[in-house]
Amino acid sequence: MSRRAMVTGGAGFLGSHLCEALLARGHEVLCVDNFFTGRRGNIAHLLSHPRFELLRHDITFPLYVEVDEIYNLACPASPVHYQFDPVQTTKTSVIGAINMLGLAKRTKAKILQASTSEVYGDPEIHPQVESYWGRVNPIGARSCYDEGKRCAETLFFDYRRQHGLRIKVMRIFNTYGPRMHPNDGRVVSNFIVQALRGETLTLYGEGEQTRSFCYVDDLIRAMILLMDTDDVVTGPINVGNPDEISIRGLAEQVLGLTGSDGRLETRPSPADDPRQRQPDITLAREALGWEPTVALEDGLARTIDYFRQRLSADAFAPDAS
Ligand code: NAD
Ligand code: UDP
Repeated sequence: MSRRAMVTGGAGFLGSHLCEALLARGHEVLCVDNFFTGRRGNIAHLLSHPRFELLRHDITFPLYVEVDEIYNLACPASPVHYQFDPVQTTKTSVIGAINMLGLAKRTKAKILQASTSEVYGDPEIHPQVESYWGRVNPIGARSCYDEGKRCAETLFFDYRRQHGLRIKVMRIFNTYGPRMHPNDGRVVSNFIVQALRGETLTLYGEGEQTRSFCYVDDLIRAMILLMDTDDVVTGPINVGNPDEISIRGLAEQVLGLTGSDGRLETRPSPADDPRQRQPDITLAREALGWEPTVALEDGLARTIDYFRQRLSADAFAPDAS
């Protein structure tokens, strides 16, 4: 019998790719989403699949279904979206985690948490290793997300210690690719959309801050590998691409790949913007036998193709959110 996997946040950017990958592996997939940042368009091509089911549901409310594996991805991920309703963001991470852990406890399902490099905050050590406890502002604009995700990790490990749950905690570093929301304010989508529209690229600060960008297919492969590990493997485990680049360097690469002659414009830095970020993926290499394979240039080219098509389709359907 095929495994029944539930993906919360399944209509979002990462979730929709995960649903696709799980279906391709023969799983039954229950996609749960409240469509806060997710889109039906991301999963429209899956709706007629015989092993796919969609449930509109907010995970801050209890859910009673029968499943073997839970991938808990529900949570807005871009600063613009998670700061829109910060109380709901914390509720989604904390109450959502409690509900999903409760479901895992009742059904004896394995459960994977999509955690984040944001648990490290603005880090003092570089690259970041899993043993680093982080430097997070508990009362700032990003705290609803960072502290919510940190509390969710706490809950996962307490449910394991207290109730013996089979948990997997994955710390995801900046990931990009097709189906990112064009207006979600994340840097890759912002720059590509701006370049394709011939607009000025908005560089926050001087653009000297760094990030390390992982292509979505690499990330999803790691997520499924982690779910399939033995029960002794709990994480937290970093997953991302260690190739680090400054945000200015990224802007220049996007301009080059789109052939845009757009310019760069500096804007004030957002509060608590981490200055540098790069995952140490030694553990992922050892525990999952995984490493990223898609170079930034190739991944950006695929993402640019997606946005080119999406923007021209949206031009004929103004409400295609
Ligand atoms: P996304 O915003 O595209 O997807 C999040 C999905 O969760 C959306 O479909 C949204 O509608 C849904 N959602 C939000 N609140 C919900 C709720 N209360 N109940 C049900 N559904 C809800 O973002 P994404 O980039 O696909 O991120 C997915 C997960 O991965 C998030 O948990 C995020 O924190 C984590 N993550 C992503 C990145 C990244 O670079 N993309 C990095 C670190 C962590
Ligand atoms: N950024 C930028 N211009 C933009 C959007 C983001 O310079 O139009 C910067 C942002 O300040 C941050 C980096 O790009 O330093 C990554 O931002 P993003 O929101 O994508 O992710 P996060 O800060 O969560 O890593």
